Amino acid sequence: MVPHWPEPWGLDAEPELQLIIDDELKRAIVTKPLNPIGIGHCGPVIVVHGSEEQKERYLPPMLRGEEMWCQLFSEPEAGSDLANLSTRAVQDGDVFVVNGQKIWTSLAQVARFGILIARTDTETSKYTGISYFIIPMDLPGIEIRPLRNMVGGFGDGGFCEVFFTDVHVPAENLIGPLHGGWAMAKETLANERVSLSKEGLQWGHGPTVKDLVDLVRTRGGLPTGELRQRLAAAYIDGEIMRYHQLRQISAKVNKKPGPDASLRKALKDQHGKIAFGLAKDLMGADGMLDATAADAPWAPWASGFLFSPALTVGGGTSEVLRNIIAERILRLPHDVDVEMGLSWSEGRARLKSLA
Ligand SMILES: Cc1cc2nc3c(=O)[nH]c(=O)nc-3n(C[C@H](O)[C@H](O)[C@H](O)COP(=O)(O)OP(=O)(O)OC[C@H]3O[C@@H](n4cnc5c(N)ncnc54)[C@H](O)[C@@H]3O)c2cc1C
Repeated sequence: MVPHWPEPWGLDAEPELQLIIDDELKRAIVTKPLNPIGIGHCGPVIVVHGSEEQKERYLPPMLRGEEMWCQLFSEPEAGSDLANLSTRAVQDGDVFVVNGQKIWTSLAQVARFGILIARTDTETSKYTGISYFIIPMDLPGIEIRPLRNMVGGFGDGGFCEVFFTDVHVPAENLIGPLHGGWAMAKETLANERVSLSKEGLQWGHGPTVKDLVDLVRTRGGLPTGELRQRLAAAYIDGEIMRYHQLRQISAKVNKKPGPDASLRKALKDQHGKIAFGLAKDLMGADGMLDATAADAPWAPWASGFLFSPALTVGGGTSEVLRNIIAERILRLPHDVDVEMGLSWSEGRARLKSLA
């Protein structure tokens, strides 16, 4: 499942071995258990910061896909500016009492566990008073409300609001040091950006532009030069993304993700939007008629098109990724508002008042 993880959970595999394993699995048409948030975002953090008991308890069923995970980070007033979160966890003996609200929690309605970041200290800076917990999603006081999105209904792939009212979380579910959760939250987000920018256009899942080219071929090609040009341009971009991914694997980005993961996600999200938009144009009348039927050849493209506006929002918006690229790869100076400890909206208010 995770050859790049350290032993005994993975093989501590070098890039070449990871690619060989992936190729062999593809060739044998072996599909891995699906647990994207568990394996992609949370697992690597538990491997590094979890206790031995936590690793033994949570990692094997996570890797077997038996226990689904979700990520309880975003709040109504804390998305890009995540450290602004206000969900509280107050220690009371051997439990933490959690109160607050999370939003956009993918898979919460099917998850057995979630990782939660909550404020455990209100006295220090907003970054130093956050702790990181494992939450059994069936604890009393947790209410999960699915949100309808335009891909359709409240399906298993949807997201939810999650409300916490006096939820008693055992103290042994804390990961890493008390008040030391912000560094782990940043690691989780970097893992998320690696996993969201894998090959499939829909955050690592779904079809690629190569699949679109194949589909067009089986349907007799394209009627106009303009459409052929657009498809060729998207294909070239897809190949550039593929080489970039190989370069990142060989730079070991998936072992210790850094700002490069933001670069790839920023490129890949835009590429996904263009490809899904192009597919929608190529569908013609099929796009209005049968494309949503599960077995229709255009089905993944029709649902991908509806999902595509989310690509440049979830897991770090395009603008926020560009801030990271500017500061951490190009070494441009920090935003003056960040230096002053202001959130983005406070910064905008400051600029307005100066103007
Ligand atoms: C499909 C999907 C699934 C998701 N799943 C999860 C999940 O499982 N768990 C979870 O915790 N969250 C999840 N999210 C939430 C996601 O992480 C947030 O939507 C994202 O972090 C942006 O936060 P926000 O929506 O509050 O937007 P805001 O942060 O309010 O941003 C609004 C706009 O302001 C811009 N902006 C904000 N700050 C800056 C800045 N400093 N500089 C320039 N521009 C800025 C943004 O780019 C954006 O255009 C999901 C989102 C989507 C779309």
